[in-house]
Amino acid sequence: MSEDCIFCQIVAGDIPNRTVYEDDDVLAFLDANPLAPGHTLVIPKAHHETLGDLPADAGASVFETLHRLTPVIEEAVDADASNVAFNNGEAAGQEVPHVHGHVIPRFEGDGGGPIHAIAGSPPDLSDDELDDIAARIAADA
Ligand code: 5GP
Ligand code: ZN
Repeated sequence: MSEDCIFCQIVAGDIPNRTVYEDDDVLAFLDANPLAPGHTLVIPKAHHETLGDLPADAGASVFETLHRLTPVIEEAVDADASNVAFNNGEAAGQEVPHVHGHVIPRFEGDGGGPIHAIAGSPPDLSDDELDDIAARIAADA
């Protein structure tokens, strides 16, 4: 637990929340400032800041919960779809430095955008640059 982490305080039961699922490793609760009805956060109970910091077994538990809860959340609020995403690091908009996956229910005509709308200007990359990027990722994948 990280003493000054708001999500660790939620895990410890020190901050009231609307829990929708809990097991030994994972907690899922409604976002306090929902972008849509049913907006849910899924977190590992252990404090890790980003996905890269998260041990593989905790990552598997978080994804297993996202996988199982997403259709349940959609059904509960009669959503047509959902965006499931992580703000992974401060530059990507992460405000709470404890890994959390957002499940944001979506509705036909709700006026929102796709995940492609989150980045700034798309880069204009040459084939060589794309080959180089793919090779660098593949080398450590
Ligand atoms: P981030 O920008 O870090 O990906 O998202 C953090 C999310 O946590 C925000 O959507 C925010 O509304 C939510 N949040 C922050 N503090 C609390 C809290 O005390 N309780 C709950 N339920 N959600 C919170
Ligand atoms: Zn924490």
